[in-house]
Amino acid sequence: MTVNLLDLDAAGLTAFFAGHGEKPFRARQVLRWLHRFGQADFAAMTDIARSLRDRLGSLAAVLPPTVISDRIADDGTRKFLFDVGGGNAVESVFIPEEGRGTLCISTQAGCALDCSFCSTGKQGFNRNLSVAEIIGQLWQARHALGAWHERESNGERLISNVVLMGMGEPLANLDNTVTALRLMLDDNAYGLSRRRVTVSTSGLVPAMDRLRDECAVALAVSLHAPNDGLRDQLVPINRKYPLRELLAACRRYLEKAPRDFVTFEYVMLDGVNDADVQARELLALTREVPCKFNLIPFNPFPGSPYRRSPTYRIRRFAEVLLEAGVVTTTRKTRGDDIDAACGQLAGQVLDRTQRTGRRTLFLQLDRQEACT
Ligand code: SAH
Ligand code: SF4
Repeated sequence: MTVNLLDLDAAGLTAFFAGHGEKPFRARQVLRWLHRFGQADFAAMTDIARSLRDRLGSLAAVLPPTVISDRIADDGTRKFLFDVGGGNAVESVFIPEEGRGTLCISTQAGCALDCSFCSTGKQGFNRNLSVAEIIGQLWQARHALGAWHERESNGERLISNVVLMGMGEPLANLDNTVTALRLMLDDNAYGLSRRRVTVSTSGLVPAMDRLRDECAVALAVSLHAPNDGLRDQLVPINRKYPLRELLAACRRYLEKAPRDFVTFEYVMLDGVNDADVQARELLALTREVPCKFNLIPFNPFPGSPYRRSPTYRIRRFAEVLLEAGVVTTTRKTRGDDIDAACGQLAGQVLDRTQRTGRRTLFLQLDRQEACT
């Protein structure tokens, strides 16, 4: 059977070569060719013996997901749509900003967790993405951006940050997510700082503990409500892992996290979770957890039961948090003209359900989140 080498991290490649009687350093060589130089052609891997290159050609392949579309907005935001087979498509978005570039990537086609304000959730779950499909979004984005030739010696990186905030729940696809994260951090691959790679979760408590132990990167948690009653409605996984357990898991995570705070994401839903009294309840709830807040103006989708909070309400909610000394940012909208802002991304090409007509992907645009 042909192995897709993009499915393997350093440990996986070492085992692959050992299984074929090859030395461990072959893994490092191939890792560098694949993920530092973006080389998919074994024939071009010139420091590998020709006989092994020929063998690799019959044993293995390099198969990233195919780019179906690649659009650039007026503000430079760039949206990629990938075919992941079986009528499924997922998206990534590149967000260039002064001093950094962030790629927001997907981990599942669809999502099973069914948050009531989320278009991806409303589509239901199709399947987990493979490691090759997760890391392949970064691989392909680097190709499209010409990033393999960048001057990394100066510390200039076109993609300096990665956020797992696209379609799907990364911690519901933990094994593949962890392997992809290891590739992002590996100095022989992408060499990203753990502080510049952020996983966003709706709060799968046992998987948060595993992520902490297996590959602690920066953590964002989708809170969205200041009490269990409301969160049970908005984020149904809360019925299984209620706030008390979730916040305890956040504190455990911080013991090993590369940053000394958790980012709480909070979608602003008009008349649902955006009152001053709820901001104060939120402060009391999170008192014990070093945190920052990122308010996300709700992005409606066809059939959604919510409205976005008015701007003055979002500003006032942020003020209550800020007055209590908690760093709070409000997510900006980017890439309007190509539907690349939070909640606007859609896999129009291959949407199978026709229920919402959209697939949604969310961008992390909080400057403090991923750049310091
Ligand atoms: N499954 C993960 C990561 C993907 S969703 C999670 O839930 O954290 C990324 C962020 O977008 C989450 O905070 C999510 O709650 C938010 N989001 C989902 N639907 C949204 C919408 N319609 N408008 C604004 N933000 C939304
Ligand atoms: Fe899944 Fe996240 Fe959407 Fe909830 S918000 S349905 S966990 S993708």
